[in-house]
Amino acid sequence: MDEQLRILKKFFGYDTFRPLQAEVIRRTVEKRDSLVLMPTGGGKSICYQLPAIYLPGTAIVVSPLIALMKDQVEGLIANGVPAAALNSTMSDEDRWQIKQRCLQGRMKLLYMSPEGLTGELDRLLPRMNISLIAVDEAHCISQWGHDFRPEYAQLSVLKERFADVPVIALTATADKITRHDIVKQLNLHEPEIFISSFDRPNLSLAVRRGLELKDKIAEIVRFIHRRRGQSGIIYCRKRSDTEKVADVLMRRYNISAVAYHAGLLPGVRERAQNDFINDRVDVVCATIAFGMGIDKSNIRWVIHYNMPGSIENYYQEIGRAGRDGVASDTVLFYSLGDLVLLRRFAEESGQVSVNMEKLYRMQRYCETDLCRRRILLSYFGEEAPNDCGNCDVCRNPPQRFDGSILVQKALSAVLRTEERIGLRMLIDILRGSGRMEVQQLNYHLLKTYGAGRDLPYQVWKEYIYQMLQLGFVEIDYLNSQVLKVTPLGRKVLFGETKAILTLYKEPVEAATTGRGRRSTRPASGAGRAASTEGAAHDDALMSALRLLRKQLAQQEKMPAYIIFSDASLQDMVLRKPMTREAFAAIKGVGDTKLEKYGMLFINLIRSVLNERG
Ligand code: ADP
Ligand code: ZN
Repeated sequence: MDEQLRILKKFFGYDTFRPLQAEVIRRTVEKRDSLVLMPTGGGKSICYQLPAIYLPGTAIVVSPLIALMKDQVEGLIANGVPAAALNSTMSDEDRWQIKQRCLQGRMKLLYMSPEGLTGELDRLLPRMNISLIAVDEAHCISQWGHDFRPEYAQLSVLKERFADVPVIALTATADKITRHDIVKQLNLHEPEIFISSFDRPNLSLAVRRGLELKDKIAEIVRFIHRRRGQSGIIYCRKRSDTEKVADVLMRRYNISAVAYHAGLLPGVRERAQNDFINDRVDVVCATIAFGMGIDKSNIRWVIHYNMPGSIENYYQEIGRAGRDGVASDTVLFYSLGDLVLLRRFAEESGQVSVNMEKLYRMQRYCETDLCRRRILLSYFGEEAPNDCGNCDVCRNPPQRFDGSILVQKALSAVLRTEERIGLRMLIDILRGSGRMEVQQLNYHLLKTYGAGRDLPYQVWKEYIYQMLQLGFVEIDYLNSQVLKVTPLGRKVLFGETKAILTLYKEPVEAATTGRGRRSTRPASGAGRAASTEGAAHDDALMSALRLLRKQLAQQEKMPAYIIFSDASLQDMVLRKPMTREAFAAIKGVGDTKLEKYGMLFINLIRSVLNERG
């Protein structure tokens, strides 16, 4: 074990293992099979990269996408580990070189696509000394999954052909069918199944609802301005919205943003993705087509411009933030319009009941006033006994009040207009709006006209959402979305039951990565917030470090996060290392990076601090 800890520090720059890493490594070194289920950012790579370094010979890593292989290989080489990927786009000469190094035992890891591996089953592989075989993104083997790749099915011969070589299958997809399928199809021999928690405590969670378009944009702009220079994704449902939002951010607010969706020309799309990966653009406004095959570890935030159709999708999309374990923020915006549309999609889909149920669970997540993380984790079948302290509900706990009179005003307005109005008209009547349409329909003559003048539009909207949620009114989806009073609503109206509402409050910013960060740590105690703990904030030093990292990345034509992760930069801000020894202790600094970049960063830190005197 000591030897393995030494390798962990020397090549990866870390002092301790993450949960399950040590166990998986031990099993692999003992030449036994395992299946590893860990969330994105959980630290799967080290589970096979470290044994690959430790064991004699070369590890074969199967990976589905060239982009993913490239990223992993660049990361390994930057850490001084001999690694390469074989793929069909290379020249014969390059392929030959790589194969030679494998045969001579001068390669620790060789990445291959499943079809590439099948092609070498009788050629290269039998002549190599294979230390282990890692099957990354192993869920691609399952027909049940969302990512089925037929080429993966051929991997079943591996155990026949290389019976003594340990196989380690890894995935971030946790459901039971997929799990079972992987074990069966890969013919894993008495595998141990390692399942880590799918919690991502470094991601803050927040939901905002019912904002008018201009308010939504304003809030997004404020959010981004507090996070200048940080990378983030805005997921939009519609292709046209990705372009509109990117355009507004760029032209009106001078934010560096780009649109990404499947309808763009391949060249344009690729450039957008590369600009984002290489920190040449901060924000990508994208449909869900964006994200697969991107390993960028320094994505600091994800915004959902619309409500996703299921919790699975939502969790996967926010999961792209904070892979490096550094605190990252997520916000989901939704409106009744989203709900109406998603309902229609679900109804028109092939699997109505499944999709309606998924949508319903998503909606409940959005509408909850319980800790959101507990809801997420329980959805994934995990126990979550404590409130997380890092979601909007925990940060701004609900305060209840008797809202009966308020609800009565609204319900009575709905009835007096003979249930022919939607949400907007209802609020206009309550607030006594002078809008033409209100007058034309003679709604200004109603008794309830202006009865709710004291509350702003947005606050009324929030309470009407609550009334929907509590079942006092419902939306007539078939009839231009007008509001109808339910039997329960009538009880409130006639004073037979009380309407307990949650007080509207201005949202409290998560601000774990933005300025004005919370100083307190999440409530539920030790460990959970380890990744956000001690996150230092010295904006000037951080910007200087980022700039140096970016310059080095440009020189070396590599993404900045390969040079150093945000977690490493934060550690530098926190500890301000000014000697080689101190720099060596920084998270993510192994021998190679110490030699290569140590003095550059030390000198920068010295000069920034000296200027301050
Ligand atoms: P996954 O493949 O599970 O999404 P990665 O292997 O890419 O996750 O790891 C996510 C991040 O966590 C990387 O930045 C990696 O360097 C870091 N990491 C992995 N193991 C450790 C560890 N033991 N200590 C600190 N950071 C780690
Ligand atoms: Zn919470």
